[in-house]
Amino acid sequence: MVAKLLWMVCWTILMILPHAAGLQRGYRDYRVCRFTTQNRTEVIDYLAKQVPGNYDVWARSSEFIDVRLPKSLGALEGCQVIIEDIDAAIEATMPQSSVAQEARDQVAFTSKNNGDFFFQEFRDLETIYTWYELLERTFPQLVKVETVGETWEGRPLHALHISTNNPDTNPEKKTIVITGGVHAREWISVTSACWTVHRLLTSYGKHNRETKYLDSLDFLIIPVFNPDGYAYTWQHDRLWRKNRQETYWPNCPGIDIDHSFDFQWKRSDEVPCTEDYSGEEAFEAIEAHSWNHFLNTTKLQYKIHGYLDFHSYSQEVLYPYAYSCDALPRDLENLLELSYGLAKAIRNKSGKHYKVLSACEDRGSDLAPGLGSGSSLDFMYHMRAHWAFQLKLRDTGNMGFLLPPRYIEPVGKEIYAAVSYFCSFILNPEL
Ligand SMILES: [Zn+2]
Repeated sequence: MVAKLLWMVCWTILMILPHAAGLQRGYRDYRVCRFTTQNRTEVIDYLAKQVPGNYDVWARSSEFIDVRLPKSLGALEGCQVIIEDIDAAIEATMPQSSVAQEARDQVAFTSKNNGDFFFQEFRDLETIYTWYELLERTFPQLVKVETVGETWEGRPLHALHISTNNPDTNPEKKTIVITGGVHAREWISVTSACWTVHRLLTSYGKHNRETKYLDSLDFLIIPVFNPDGYAYTWQHDRLWRKNRQETYWPNCPGIDIDHSFDFQWKRSDEVPCTEDYSGEEAFEAIEAHSWNHFLNTTKLQYKIHGYLDFHSYSQEVLYPYAYSCDALPRDLENLLELSYGLAKAIRNKSGKHYKVLSACEDRGSDLAPGLGSGSSLDFMYHMRAHWAFQLKLRDTGNMGFLLPPRYIEPVGKEIYAAVSYFCSFILNPEL
């Protein structure tokens, strides 16, 4: 209890200091290390003791764990430094300020051409929402901006509904749902969802493949599932992950949306200050709650068949379940076939290797039950969709969450190859 309290106090101080001045949080005193030691929990136990509340697990796998930790710890045994200068890496993800200013004016241009301009840089929320409106104006027969709900800070949570609205060609209205940006700092997941939107819309009527997809399927795409968190990464802390809603602990806002869905939800031991905080009850995260409500009220409108949830980083195709490795998903053989198909489509496009594994292995649910509970993947797979996957996009750790903008296009292309494979699989009449 004392440790927990100390932890929270440290966190509170860390969180208040940079934000009081309204500045981007600096990470000069931190580095990111990869540990490949056999006992990764030992690393965490050590950090929890030495620097309570002052480290952040970026990624874990069966082979390694990546952690942001203070440089004051010195040269730690087993630490392979993957990012020494985090601030420089953050800076490299941001658009040139003059370009950012121009972006809003010129974004109109992008909806008509091949999107080169829009995808040259990462875009802030305002620019992305302006882009939605322009898409709606440019492709009024194909796309509608829908509002799923409102966030804690009062921003709309928008979905793009892509549909030819043609009951003759699409009587079943099988719907594919794609979400990005559930975790605020995973910017590449946002651009890849936008890339998918752009490809579908601009190719309809021009290319047989996309024409067939849109004639036969509906799409609900939410590139920014966590608008408050995303806005916060632009204004205050590039490495923020959760949403921004109030918790019971003052100055420790934010619930991990991907731990909030009401399927196999478990309250985590984590305090509200951590990046993995699950909230005190299922669907406490306002975005998860709104999404469930939206699906309930539009049940007849959408027959959700497929779900892809984009995250980063690790280059992985994850299939259900996340909450437990003992829970067997239905139709495992086809689920695996589809997983390997998604990975192969990516490999054929870009040569990049994406590992296929069950989400519970990735989360480490077998080591610490609760780590994988309440995920969007499990909820959608179990309650809503026939097929569901989480894709963790590039890279494998060199830049982690801080991919520079030159990656937007190659990652967009390889992920679109996976989306395309997914659509073809679902439209295969033999299934
Ligand atoms: Zn994520």
